[in-house]
Amino acid sequence: MNVLLVFAHPEPRSLTGALRDVAVAELTAQGHRVRLSDLYAQGWKAQVDRADFPVLEPEERLMVAAASGRAFAAGALTADVRAEQEKLRWADAVLFQFPLWWFGMPAILKGWVERVYAYGFGYGVGEHSDRRWGDRYGEGTLAGKRAMLLVTAGGWAEHYGPRGINGPIDDLLFPIQHGVLFYPGFTVLPPYVLYRADRLDAAGFAAAAAHLRERMRTLETTAPIAFRRQNGGDYTIPAMQLRPGLEAPGATGFALHRTER
Ligand code: FAD
Repeated sequence: MNVLLVFAHPEPRSLTGALRDVAVAELTAQGHRVRLSDLYAQGWKAQVDRADFPVLEPEERLMVAAASGRAFAAGALTADVRAEQEKLRWADAVLFQFPLWWFGMPAILKGWVERVYAYGFGYGVGEHSDRRWGDRYGEGTLAGKRAMLLVTAGGWAEHYGPRGINGPIDDLLFPIQHGVLFYPGFTVLPPYVLYRADRLDAAGFAAAAAHLRERMRTLETTAPIAFRRQNGGDYTIPAMQLRPGLEAPGATGFALHRTER
């Protein structure tokens, strides 16, 4: 497989950096081709602004989605964004690796999503009408590709358990896994999450690395998270409501959008 690893940590000698090296070595040993987007090393520009849209006239008001769509259609997005889109097209699987910062991804990675997922590429894809609300949530530009998060977190696994004070990890990662990944079409694998990362000793690192190697060996075969496809009949159109009776007994909130019972 062609594997793209999008890496968001400012320090190459970090724990996250050491785990990246473990992942890349294992993927390479398995015969996969690996490319890296090292966002800090690349000096990735995180904010969306006028400079992203050279097609815009100086006096024109910036409307981001409209400008993004025009620039994408004209092949006029900036070279850094086009390069990342090309890597995404090349990849069969994409790994997003980052430390959990304030219950989400570091700003530089959020900025990568905001800039690389242009209108017409990450969103605004497919027919939008009363009969169809676009190609998204299971369909779209990135359909057929696998995606997976590699996350380190300072908190304990229990803090992220069903009754843990931070909220369940599946809920915290839902906006990324369902919103950022499933929305443009990715098949989303369960995440690799390393808890209590700040206090990791050598034995802990060895165990974490072994687990990560196993996840890399099974990248092609791991069963994905069973998110419901938008256009698979489970939702009303155009209100996009889950049809009654499809959910597991007692399921509410984010859990409604998974098919497991
Ligand atoms: P590092 O700081 O690089 O290393 C962590 C430990 O791993 C060190 O003790 C290091 O010695 C050890 N280690 C063991 N083996 C190795 C090796 N081979 N190479 C390198 N180091 C090794 N946590 C949460 O749970 N929720 C949050 O919302 C959250 N928000 C945060 C917000 C900010 C701004 C910051 C700075 C931290 C936050 N944290 C949070 C904690 C954060 O998730 C962890 O600090 C981070 O995941 C640790 O990963 P790292 O790569 O930065 O580790």
